[in-house]
Amino acid sequence: MDLRTNLLELEKISRLLEPSGQERSETRKDVIAYAENFLKNIEKIPAYDLNENKGKGLLDIPIQEQPVHLEKLLRALHEHVDTQGLNPASGGHLGYIPGGGIYYSALADYLADVFNRYAGIFYAGPGAVRMENMLIRWMAGVMGYPSDAAGNLTTGGSIANLMGVVTARDAKQIRSADVKDSVIYLSKQVHHSIDKAIRIAGLGEAVVRHLPLDKKFRIIPSELRKLIHEDKVSGKKPFLVVASAGTTDVGAVDPLEAIGTICREEDLWYHIDAAYGGFFILTEDGKQKLKGIELSDSLVIDPHKGLFLPYGLGTILVKEKKHLNASHHYLANYMQDTAGSQEELSPADLSPELTKHFRGLRLWMPLLLHGLKPFRACLEEKLLLTKYFHEEVKKLGFETGTEPELSVATYRFVPQKGDVNEFNRNLQAAVVKDGRVFVSSTTLDGVVWLRMACLAFRTHVSTIDTLLEILAKETGKRA
Ligand SMILES: *Cc1c(COP(=O)(O)O)cnc(C)c1O
Repeated sequence: MDLRTNLLELEKISRLLEPSGQERSETRKDVIAYAENFLKNIEKIPAYDLNENKGKGLLDIPIQEQPVHLEKLLRALHEHVDTQGLNPASGGHLGYIPGGGIYYSALADYLADVFNRYAGIFYAGPGAVRMENMLIRWMAGVMGYPSDAAGNLTTGGSIANLMGVVTARDAKQIRSADVKDSVIYLSKQVHHSIDKAIRIAGLGEAVVRHLPLDKKFRIIPSELRKLIHEDKVSGKKPFLVVASAGTTDVGAVDPLEAIGTICREEDLWYHIDAAYGGFFILTEDGKQKLKGIELSDSLVIDPHKGLFLPYGLGTILVKEKKHLNASHHYLANYMQDTAGSQEELSPADLSPELTKHFRGLRLWMPLLLHGLKPFRACLEEKLLLTKYFHEEVKKLGFETGTEPELSVATYRFVPQKGDVNEFNRNLQAAVVKDGRVFVSSTTLDGVVWLRMACLAFRTHVSTIDTLLEILAKETGKRA
């Protein structure tokens, strides 16, 4: 076969990757029908499915040369993925930190994928990059950051925290030889992605001080100041404080303003992890609670938590653009044509990524299609539902943790006799087994507490009533 004939033969096969209009239409119809069936029944589908299969059936459909029919794939998806384990799209998801999955983000992802716009570099995708930067500026404004702050849309809060820690390391000029004497201050309640970030950033041998906490699991500013002074006197180099605006475990907000003052006076980098709690700033109550968040040098917020987006969108904000840029920029020879255009900074110069999904669209579309009002209302609803739950569960005879600061409530039942921790572990398992709602537990100072974490946009007062009903029934049976 000559080269040209060979090429035409290959073209015939490779063109299979471009389905015809009719094929697209038929495939789309079935996919949409599958999604609609899920959305139509979302109120009835369990929040957790204790299924034995755990997705194993997928292994019976190996990747192979020949195509597999869509019907078979959707059936596999239904049986082995979409009905297994936790259902994060359910309003009954009241464990960990719930996600969401607002629909218009799905349509935005569809468009982003069809057009496949390049969102890494302004030269290649000026519109996509401008959109990302516009969203960053909007979030900076909401959080009280200056309008020339920099930021990046990441895949989630963990990567955003890593970028914050790396930026802090470089801005404070911690070189390898300095690591052993460098000091980081954080709360024991800090999210474990910070511990991972410290290790990944090459700071594993730095001194990490776990600060003493008050009764509401918040950093005590005077203790922080004391430790910084002691470390300075002994010749160490304190350089970073990490505070949480909403801890994952109990929803505690560290005293952000007081810590900010200390960081400024002592010349330390101030990183706030607000992955869970940050967007409550869109409510009046949240705004009060998050006062001082604007004093941070870097800040993590997670639209896939606090703005109810489907998984895959976190954000890092850095107050001084030059620091985020200094840690992440690079100009490869093969990209020299892209350098001229500095009208907008490029995500590739502000993050470890180069080629990146156009993930700005999944935030931009729902924000503009809905307007901000329902987002604010939904966040306020979540704060009030948590208050409601805290009060009602007490009436059922439960012991409760301190007044919830945001949307996590802790509670446990103390039976007349028997091991209290075991009772509550069994109670959590019983709620999960019922399946209508999902709650998780935690251990605080050796005591097992159940958690009710309210952040799914589909959670409403009827959901909380269902949880209360299950708790009343299960404790009635056991106590
Ligand atoms: C969820 C969470 C993270 C991690 O974010 P991911 O988006 O899951 O990577 C970090 N910090 C806090 C406080 C969180 O709640």
